[in-house]
Amino acid sequence: MSNAAVSVYALASGSSGNATLICTKETNILIDCGLGIRKLSSLLHGKGVLADNLHGILVTHEHIDHIAGLGNLCRRTGAPVFTNDATHQACSLRDPLVNNQVSVPTGSELRIGQLTVRSFAVPHDASEPVGWVVQHEDWRMCYFTDAGIVTDAMKSGLCGADLAIVEANHDVEMLRRGPYTSDMKARVASSTGHLSNTQCADALAAKVEDEGPATIWLAHLSRVNNSPAVARNTVMQGIKSRTKTTFSLEVAHRDSPSATYHRGMRAVQLSLF
Ligand SMILES: [Zn+2]
Ligand SMILES: [Zn+2]
Repeated sequence: MSNAAVSVYALASGSSGNATLICTKETNILIDCGLGIRKLSSLLHGKGVLADNLHGILVTHEHIDHIAGLGNLCRRTGAPVFTNDATHQACSLRDPLVNNQVSVPTGSELRIGQLTVRSFAVPHDASEPVGWVVQHEDWRMCYFTDAGIVTDAMKSGLCGADLAIVEANHDVEMLRRGPYTSDMKARVASSTGHLSNTQCADALAAKVEDEGPATIWLAHLSRVNNSPAVARNTVMQGIKSRTKTTFSLEVAHRDSPSATYHRGMRAVQLSLF
């Protein structure tokens, strides 16, 4: 049996900033860097990782809540930035400090230390947005937020994932009745906007049924059009109504480190003694 040891930390998730840290024994990577360098460094430090010890930053798309701290992080640490060329160009326009690009054409796979990463397309109003599959030996996670609909490529990304981090941006009724302008409501609900709690549940239900136990984190919740309790209840019920398979579900907080995942760490720690 593999003892692949992996930890994953939700550092921030939502329109105020996104950052997810993935650590193996030898490799540390971030998905998105939507936090300022000072805050990010402090959060990384809290997880025992120095910003200088990041081996790469995977970028989903160029919206500011995903890249706000990316330029400064690049300048300070020289960490490579893994994006497709369209996203890199768009990031560079927002912040010329974003450099050190390693080009990852959408759909291709490459190795970062102990991790294998692969991007897949998601429909969102950005240059060439993607989600990511990250793999360490037989362990796998799938990450996608900022998507208007769930496509086959995104469902494929979920296949075999031990950990699924998926957007549950809004409750459809809260969005409809809420304070957003009609243009903003239309943008959020469009096929290149954001996933509702129901869409999230639909995407996950089939995966839980097919693949057995899973850990699910709900991500990128709207502060205005959703709440952790509503998202949790809707997705939980949506999945449970279609399968008896057990799974665990957590909500990634918007402004503070929250969900934490450890796999195989006990085996590593025991081997130290
Ligand atoms: Zn976003
Ligand atoms: Zn976005």
